[in-house]
Amino acid sequence: MKPAPFAYAKARTLKEAVALLSKHKDDARLLAGGQSLIATLNMRLSAPELLIDINDIKGLDGIAKKGKAIEIGALARHTQVERSGVIAKHAPLIALAMPHIGHAAIRNRGTFGGSIAFADPAAELPACLLALGAEIEIAGPKGKRKVKADAFFKGLFETALRPQEILTAVRVPAADKNTRVGFAELARRHGDYAMVGLAASARADGKALKDVRLAFFGVGATPVRAKKSESVLANGNIEAAVAALELDPQDDVQATAKVKKHLAGVLLRRVAKQLMEARA
Ligand SMILES: Cc1cc2nc3c(=O)[nH]c(=O)nc-3n(C[C@H](O)[C@H](O)[C@H](O)COP(=O)(O)OP(=O)(O)OC[C@H]3O[C@@H](n4cnc5c(N)ncnc54)[C@H](O)[C@@H]3O)c2cc1C
Repeated sequence: MKPAPFAYAKARTLKEAVALLSKHKDDARLLAGGQSLIATLNMRLSAPELLIDINDIKGLDGIAKKGKAIEIGALARHTQVERSGVIAKHAPLIALAMPHIGHAAIRNRGTFGGSIAFADPAAELPACLLALGAEIEIAGPKGKRKVKADAFFKGLFETALRPQEILTAVRVPAADKNTRVGFAELARRHGDYAMVGLAASARADGKALKDVRLAFFGVGATPVRAKKSESVLANGNIEAAVAALELDPQDDVQATAKVKKHLAGVLLRRVAKQLMEARA
């Protein structure tokens, strides 16, 4: 299918993009990598009157260590993040997740910010941000504001972004020697969206773990934390953590709710081992 007709504008600055969004509000959509947006236009799931191309806005594609945080610009392409030495060294959870995002052609165009703003419930990066307690930077008509990942993902493809706002960057804590991370997903084919996935982080605390954060994806309208299992896992009992899972997935085209619950337990066992093995 072809998209409904739309007008096109190329924004050269953040200010210009925010002004266009403020003027056209819900009738406009930002165009980043286009890997999700163009598909929704072609399927006529969305028919905005105006596309605002943000690809030429300077300074939104950096990846850098800033103090105790790693800042990833919204326009950093998935491939750029996947190949970044800064990410490999200081954001190992994101490094583990990147190869699971689609295929090479999609990763060449798709952007980090686009994935977070689109907020597909089966996507890897929103769950990683939740597991890392990331901070999301947003620019709007009144300047910049920051939202914690725990408050950013509101519902199915729904985030804390307002119609006239742009996601500009994401900050995750830089890993140190006590940081532990784990990642696993089950997809029908490598590169497909996950049936179920799990991104996790924790801190080593002697022989135990603390600050365990388990963020499942593909099991609800948003990535979800399994808070009861987090505290049980901190005591080192993997089977008790699996038994404490309180996920409530729905049947979808990928799998039934029953299968998803089973797979979530399988993934938790795998990821828990990753978190614990790394303590050696
Ligand atoms: C075949 C296929 C397989 C895929 N598999 C996976 C997968 O396994 N895992 C996965 O996570 N993703 C997958 N994707 C999606 C891919 O990761 C996209 O790159 C990503 O979801 C959207 O990024 P984008 O830059 O292409 O955004 P776009 O498609 O340009 O935009 C998506 C939405 O986000 C909004 N948006 C974009 N940037 C911003 C911003 N800076 N601020 C505010 N709003 C913004 C747009 O207005 C639009 O509504 C797949 C895509 C395809 C086509």
